[in-house]
Amino acid sequence: MLQIYNTLTHQKEFFRPLHEGHVGMYVCGPTVYGDAHLGHARPAITFDLLYRYLLHLGYKVRYVRNITDVGHLEHDADEGEDKIAKKARLEQLEPMEVVQYYTNRYHRDMEALNVLPPTIEPHASGHIIEQIEFVKKILDKGYAYISNGSVYMDVEKYAQDYPYGKLSGRNLEEIKTETRELDGQNEKRHSYDFALWKKASPEHIMHWPSPWSEGFPGWHMECSTMGTKYLGEEFDIHGGGLDLMFPHHEAEIAQSCAALGHDSVRYWMHNNMITIAGKKMGKSYHNFITLEQFFKGEHELLSKPFSPMTIRFFILMAHYRSTVDFSSDALEAAEKGLARLTEAYNRLMKLKAGDQTSIELTPLRQLCEDAMEDDLNSPIVISHLFDSSRAINTIYDGKGSISSEDLSELQATWKTFVVDVLGLKMESEAADGNQDAYKGAIDLLLNMRLEAKKNKDWATSDKIRNELVALGFTIKDTKDSFEWSL
Ligand code: ZN
Repeated sequence: MLQIYNTLTHQKEFFRPLHEGHVGMYVCGPTVYGDAHLGHARPAITFDLLYRYLLHLGYKVRYVRNITDVGHLEHDADEGEDKIAKKARLEQLEPMEVVQYYTNRYHRDMEALNVLPPTIEPHASGHIIEQIEFVKKILDKGYAYISNGSVYMDVEKYAQDYPYGKLSGRNLEEIKTETRELDGQNEKRHSYDFALWKKASPEHIMHWPSPWSEGFPGWHMECSTMGTKYLGEEFDIHGGGLDLMFPHHEAEIAQSCAALGHDSVRYWMHNNMITIAGKKMGKSYHNFITLEQFFKGEHELLSKPFSPMTIRFFILMAHYRSTVDFSSDALEAAEKGLARLTEAYNRLMKLKAGDQTSIELTPLRQLCEDAMEDDLNSPIVISHLFDSSRAINTIYDGKGSISSEDLSELQATWKTFVVDVLGLKMESEAADGNQDAYKGAIDLLLNMRLEAKKNKDWATSDKIRNELVALGFTIKDTKDSFEWSL
């Protein structure tokens, strides 16, 4: 039975969905004013792994991942110019053109990483009315106050009735110390109060009417609102990066408890961060590498381009709750590992069954399932696959045999865990239609040659080989079969 680590209770818990057979899951999505980078790839791949595994277990999953497009700052919703508005002003675009442009590019990068799309992808800008209604509820319950056209969460009042800071394990005193430096606004009663609705300054171009002012919702509001709108007042899983735990998720819990009287989320899940040569990613470190730069190899920290599948494999090689330190060397190692796995996969799919199994096979399906059930332990799944690849290579080299029953089971298990669960595109699967046709044609010729050899028709066999070699192909004869490359 699936166990997942609940950040709220600091322990692994058996996953029991609220409604049998159905899972509701919400993951904080990107803020779309720039290209996706390695830091975006990790939560996307982590929760894609969870989504894929839940589907594998037979659940019907409603997976909501939002698009933050009303342009708040990422870590402090209360300060500074709206980033989307700024970009729009500088590039003379409609704000929604900036949003669309980066949303399209985000989708393109996610598709390259083989991240499945969520079942609902709501935009914050499309849910302003719902967010206003949510703010009203919090005001009605007395946990917010209006100040100069903006609405703020009354954190002190809230903390008298509910434990504020329970997710991040911080108490109000600590939060007070941490937040004091960050803003000098005097419309708030306390530095740690956060905006539920913000009055727009005159130069702010993305704003909407509300009972309090012409303005825009606070950043945390969209997730509380869209999560409960699509998944109900209580739902199963809320995920995101560890960097969102405070203040974003803490604020979401406070908003839901204040408005509804209870938290909406049963299991909080957080993926850990990626560091680059031991440093956090950030513009000030000059180590911000976009996914496109990875795919094209265009960054001073990269030795070469890295394929989307290498990035995906690299991220899956670490457990989602451990940190990952990026380096070009580490990616090159991941690339080699993935090549070995791909080779074993392609060999396995071509293996021919014998009368019986002469080598010892691990109970691969069970081992992989046990690892996934243990809080999505993808590195252990990968290590079991590598163990299994040794057996595959032994059979492939003719030093062992496998029965047809064992072979079908092994092929099905690899397909399930490599392709469906880990979401790794194997080379042959990644090929487009033209590639498939081309490979099919070469295989056809070489199978005809094999046939000719069996019939001792050496003239035809040599002709096919020589002409393919003349065209630049390398052909290697193996026991009963062949390998080729261009
Ligand atoms: Zn969120």
